[in-house]
Amino acid sequence: VPVVVAIDGPSGSGKSSVSKAVATRLGYGYVDTGAMYRALAWYCLDLGLGLTDQAAVAQAARDLPLELGTDPSAPTVVVGGTDVSAAIRTTEISSRVSAVATNLDVRAELVRRQRELIAAVAASQGGVVAEGRDLTTVVVPDATVRLLVTASEEARLARRSTELHGTADAASVAATRDQIVRRDKDDSAVSQFLTAAPGVTVVDTSDLDFAGSVQAVLDEVNA
Ligand code: C5P
Repeated sequence: VPVVVAIDGPSGSGKSSVSKAVATRLGYGYVDTGAMYRALAWYCLDLGLGLTDQAAVAQAARDLPLELGTDPSAPTVVVGGTDVSAAIRTTEISSRVSAVATNLDVRAELVRRQRELIAAVAASQGGVVAEGRDLTTVVVPDATVRLLVTASEEARLARRSTELHGTADAASVAATRDQIVRRDKDDSAVSQFLTAAPGVTVVDTSDLDFAGSVQAVLDEVNA
């Protein structure tokens, strides 16, 4: 039976890098659902759509010509033949993605695609690690392993600051704080991070380094 590892968590929890490392270690495929929402935001902006035009954005989600790479060592994101892997990680996309993610018709379409992709990758590779905000609760609540990867706000800020600015000094952390706090707030309609849903195991990485976080998740998968 193919193994599905579902991992949820907020930005800066270490969820993405840990998910990729775990998939690599297990020889499984990798599905980054956040990349799908980011790709849609990029596509809408490329088309010149207003992100608050609910019907137009929902139609764009159904039309989205997306190829999502599932190799954890090179998870490329291609929209209509254009590699947008880097373009979807900009501050502009990060600050605007919640506008498309809170559109319920968008979620219906992307969740449908996510379920299809997760099942296909799991079947072809024996297993898949899928990460996002609502994997354990909505997308694949029947997953083999369901984890909520969290970290204290302090640890998340330090990690995001290092990612964005190359350092976690006081000024960089302050600059990062506004962004991370705002996106958590924008995302609050689609995610819950304080408590895990029933049957979901919390993995707190606040006091773990990267290797320790990977090991903690592998321990849960092997438990
Ligand atoms: O994980 P990442 O930060 O790349 O996700 C980008 C955005 O996509 C999140 O801020 C959230 O708005 C949305 N998202 C979501 N549901 C998911 C994954 C991501 O709404 N399963």
